[in-house]
Amino acid sequence: MRVITTVKEMQSEVIKQKGQGKSVGFVPTMGFLHEGHLSLIKKARKENDLVVLSIFVNPLQFGPNEDFATYPRDFERDRALAECEGVDFLFHPSVEEMYSNPSSVTLVVQARTDVLCGKSRPGHFDGVATVLTKLFHIVQPTRAYFGKKDAQQVAVVEGLITDLNFPVELVPVDIVREADGLAKSSRNVNLLPEDRQKAVVLHKSLLQAKKLIGEGERKPDALISLIKEMITSESSGRIDYVEILSYPELLPLERIEGKFIIALAVHFTNVRLIDNFILEMD
Ligand code: AMP
Repeated sequence: MRVITTVKEMQSEVIKQKGQGKSVGFVPTMGFLHEGHLSLIKKARKENDLVVLSIFVNPLQFGPNEDFATYPRDFERDRALAECEGVDFLFHPSVEEMYSNPSSVTLVVQARTDVLCGKSRPGHFDGVATVLTKLFHIVQPTRAYFGKKDAQQVAVVEGLITDLNFPVELVPVDIVREADGLAKSSRNVNLLPEDRQKAVVLHKSLLQAKKLIGEGERKPDALISLIKEMITSESSGRIDYVEILSYPELLPLERIEGKFIIALAVHFTNVRLIDNFILEMD
């Protein structure tokens, strides 16, 4: 595995490899790798000749009061894990390498951002779209791998790839969970022990909503109320949102039908967690 820190070297290496007819699987991350990230890498490894992993904590996608400074980082550990998974190139640029200061061009996402995380994190998806546009130009992947844990991100990336005509295949990958159901996240290490224990209610409430749908419940409001009640009574988490929307369009639903997402975000003492189920009615 080779660690690359400059845009120029990454681009020239990938152009050389693609010239030899190789397919490139790309896994963009912010590092502090866990099994969720590793499942993306494993899938990319299986489906491509070459695997590029990027580790870049992107300042553009953090709001002024968010956790950019305290976002967990451990490059040496990440490097060892990436090597074990058979990554070919680990792209690890500095902020200065990625952005001119000030930037003269950034992107604004026009749809799918006025709900869920987009509503409470203004500008977040503009930052995601800008960094991914740059990374797609730098890495020139055949396929790009994204976790369904960030389901709104998958929806936004689908729009980005379609609208800006990137010759990239988007590959969404299932959520990897801890044994008790909590979705794996780099931020979980910052949870206080009692919050970590109580955070299991996020997954539990989604399971309960799914069960009620199976029993015939079709009213989004009733399901949202149930989830909110469970979270409030079983934890001290402060709910940011619980929403049920069509997927991937992310439009409001009067009734449960078609393909839809039940998504939630909850603030614990010092960490905001997200989770979701994407379901489809027959
Ligand atoms: P991040 O480092 O948080 O930006 O995540 C990098 C990629 O890993 C994103 O596509 C995430 O959706 C994905 N990811 C993060 N956590 C999980 C998980 N628990 N299961 C599957 N994919 C995940």
